[in-house]
Amino acid sequence: MPFKSMGLHPSLVQATRDMRYAEPTPIQAEAIPAILAGRDLIGTAQTGTGKTAAFLLPILHQLLALPRGTTRVLVITPTRELAQQIDDVCLGLAYHTNLRVGVLVGGAPMGKQEKALRAGVEILLATPGRLLDHMRQNQARFDQIHTLVLDEGDRMLDMGFLPDLKRIVARLPGRRQTLLFSATMPPVIARLAGEILRDPLKVQIGRRSAPAVGITQAAYPVAEHLKTALLRHLLRNTDMPSVLVFTRTKVSARRLARTIAADGFSVAELHSNLTQPQRNRAMEGFRRGDFQVLVATNIAARGLDVEHITHVISVDVPTVPDDYVHRIGRTARAEAEGDAFVLVSPAEEKSLVDIERHIGQRLPRVTLPDFDYSQSVPQRAGKPGQRGSQPSRTRGTGQARGNGSPARPPRSRRRR
Ligand code: AMP
Repeated sequence: MPFKSMGLHPSLVQATRDMRYAEPTPIQAEAIPAILAGRDLIGTAQTGTGKTAAFLLPILHQLLALPRGTTRVLVITPTRELAQQIDDVCLGLAYHTNLRVGVLVGGAPMGKQEKALRAGVEILLATPGRLLDHMRQNQARFDQIHTLVLDEGDRMLDMGFLPDLKRIVARLPGRRQTLLFSATMPPVIARLAGEILRDPLKVQIGRRSAPAVGITQAAYPVAEHLKTALLRHLLRNTDMPSVLVFTRTKVSARRLARTIAADGFSVAELHSNLTQPQRNRAMEGFRRGDFQVLVATNIAARGLDVEHITHVISVDVPTVPDDYVHRIGRTARAEAEGDAFVLVSPAEEKSLVDIERHIGQRLPRVTLPDFDYSQSVPQRAGKPGQRGSQPSRTRGTGQARGNGSPARPPRSRRRR
């Protein structure tokens, strides 16, 4: 069905023509009529499917029927870049209307955002932290929200925004339309959907065809001497059923494996200092799930194909971008999903930028609110055999720092 036949306002149909959208994408074909009919919706769709216009078009249509000057739509997204992307699409689609959009993201002055709020822009695009700051200052501006969009739900979870999201939702009117989009549907997100959506229509679009699409990537800036401590923190506080840890050298692979084992995790190591039977035992054990963690060097892990790897953590940043791609390709195999984290010291920022250029993607920088970045000496592992705290079942321990310039000195990396 063409856009013209979907009952959308003529100014919006004109905008789709201006933007050279020939016909609705599959998610648009399913989502637009449902949203126009007032239904809640869960869209399992990733970027590139046309999901942004799928929610913006019916939202803009609804707004056109209402008086201006009141903020009625709130779109929450994990990063500033995504907010910017949505803003761009929104400006295009709303071009022939007089609807206004405000963007509330961190790293920008509050004053201008305050002004947009005071003016009652009809649509707000926001990242969670900054949105909460505004809500705390003036809740009244958010009392007329009738449509809430949560975009990239799984990424918000990975970046540690779930508690913020719950706080935000609790401050919004209960009678509203809620639309949730997420590339994947981890159980925590499905539970959240159950709590905050009413009888949602479920639309699933764009199942992954290439493994790389299912990988959620993030970079964790940290001082070199705190990398082991940060890795241990991640392992303890994130639900990681099957983790492949990469280190540059055999020596550090061995050292890390021992430290992690001392924390009570089942670990194997894989590098070229081992005999072939030892390597086979490590691989087979990891494949069977006997070991939760495999610590490996690049070389040893080439061609490794284990379907259930949920996380790949690079403790160093590969200097050859292809090595990075190869490492992260170890997860999200066979249409599964996986997370790829890379720990980045200030000296490795440049290598990370090279990688980002190579993959054409900027990785979100994540800091952990409950990790002490000011420690001057590395934490020591307990004695072998001593059990540390059990890995908890919560995914996502990070908080987005926004995507500041990677070249910035570590001093300016402020935790939010
Ligand atoms: P999204 O999945 O929202 O990130 O959109 C991916 C890209 O598809 C964006 O560049 C959109 O401008 C474009 N797009 C969205 N809807 C359509 C459509 N119906 N026809 C062609 N391109 C579209």
